[in-house]
Amino acid sequence: MASTPTPDDAAARRPAATRKVTRHRGEGQWAMGHFTPLNANEQFKKDDDGLNVRTRIETIYSQRGFDSIDPADLRGRMRWWGLYTQRKAGIDGGKTAILEPHELDDEHFMLRVRIDGGRLTTAQLRAIGEVSETYARGTADITDRQNIQLHWIRIEDVPAIWQKLEAVGLSTTEACGDCPRVIIGSPVAGIAEDEIIDGSWAVDEIHERYIGDKEFSNLPRKFKTAISGSPVQDVVHEINDIAFVGVVHPEHGPGFDVWVGGGLSTNPRLAERLGAWVPLEQVPDVWAGVVGIFRDYGYRRLRTRARLKFLMADWGPEKFRQILEDDYLKTKLIDGPAPAEPSTRWRDHVGVHPQQDGNFYVGFAPRVGRIDGPTLAKIADVAAAHGSDRLRTTVEQKMIILDVAPDQVEPLVAALDALDFQVRPSSFRRGTIACTGIEFCKLAIVETKGRGHDLISDLEKRLPDFDQPISININGCPNACARIQTGDFGLKGQLVLNAEGEQVEGFQVHLGGSLGFEAGFGRKLRGLKVTAAELPDYIERVLRRFEEERTDDERFAE
Ligand code: SF4
Repeated sequence: MASTPTPDDAAARRPAATRKVTRHRGEGQWAMGHFTPLNANEQFKKDDDGLNVRTRIETIYSQRGFDSIDPADLRGRMRWWGLYTQRKAGIDGGKTAILEPHELDDEHFMLRVRIDGGRLTTAQLRAIGEVSETYARGTADITDRQNIQLHWIRIEDVPAIWQKLEAVGLSTTEACGDCPRVIIGSPVAGIAEDEIIDGSWAVDEIHERYIGDKEFSNLPRKFKTAISGSPVQDVVHEINDIAFVGVVHPEHGPGFDVWVGGGLSTNPRLAERLGAWVPLEQVPDVWAGVVGIFRDYGYRRLRTRARLKFLMADWGPEKFRQILEDDYLKTKLIDGPAPAEPSTRWRDHVGVHPQQDGNFYVGFAPRVGRIDGPTLAKIADVAAAHGSDRLRTTVEQKMIILDVAPDQVEPLVAALDALDFQVRPSSFRRGTIACTGIEFCKLAIVETKGRGHDLISDLEKRLPDFDQPISININGCPNACARIQTGDFGLKGQLVLNAEGEQVEGFQVHLGGSLGFEAGFGRKLRGLKVTAAELPDYIERVLRRFEEERTDDERFAE
């Protein structure tokens, strides 16, 4: 394997003032001179850069098959190219925490296609559909970070898949792993009538300069980015490691307010504002400065404390900004105002909305993000037949077709409806998201996608007139891939006891979480656990009580 690259390179690049060596291992921060790996993940990253695994996949593993894969590549570096082994079929959730990783591994992979800014052409959507049909048994899920995930991938097929994706400008580079993940962008960037500023240039520039660059390919953990110039703040900016949120500075005009250190999982934390206003052209430099701080000062001793939010919790925004300005940017940032609260609770862009150019964009709601390969091709066909070549994915697992002429709007709505993609869906279809769950995820305890699909139908029948914004976030385990803590109903998958005292699939309920309006985490109600079978009854009961007791404009989160 190649020699260790990043720590020493990074040390040379770091500001001289930070290159001191201390005796104590501390948190394993490189900036404190701690380059000795303190856990297995740090060791494999030191042994060889995650990006280097691509060559081995192309020249060795795809030729010799699954059994030839080095374990450190299989459960480590392959993530840098969007590949995770998927869960072996038929292993129930009770065994998740008991079995060794290799006992849970199937010989197939999940492959995550990164879609920065959620931007797709019809040709790209068709290419993903073809890959899905040819190599992924027709699977295709839109994630809550605008990506599309495929399953049942064989290692033998990976080079051919890359070829097909890259031919249309898509990639899986750093789609997973301890590196900069997909850059979430407003799905209506550059088109929405009410836009404050278009952040697309910054999304492209960061991707061009830094994605796949070994300067940032060995971070303490994953690094999540969001950029939106939309007044509805449609990128869940509060829970990203760095976010740029559109705001108008009274002297300098439209630009971005900088948020740092958000994240969910087991120690959820909302990002904090640095109080800085950044013009569009400065976004990539500020982004690189913040990622540099994370690389150099991030905690590498324990993976459970390695996200940027822990460093931010210890430093606070003032110190963070000072180090960013003094040691990384070498310039002071301009103070700036906070963005206003979004004007609507629905931030998914579902429905028909005006564009700047007189056309419309049309957002529609797949159920919990689950589509399939043939249907992706049909969506591309429908878009093209109604004069559009551009689509977007959203962080709510929804899709948008852009550039629809006024006289094509209703025919397009009808064509999507025929595919069961509603443009005017129920609150339940609109507001329910679900993570991958036990079908494919090795960490899962319960099933999520099928359950979310059925729950939507059930609630639509039980509460046909319910029209309030609502979010139901279904997670298959205590991790928060579908944002447990930020849903009106945050459902954390676990095994619970049913009335007969048997262990069955169920959920710990968190109630009243919210992003945007008065962002905050839902309350975990002690002892409030429901079995999966009881879930529709429980949600119906709570929503009926809310309808009976609410004042005129009271929202569910209140
Ligand atoms: Fe897997 Fe848990 Fe994440 Fe769901 S929340 S995708 S089950 S790790």
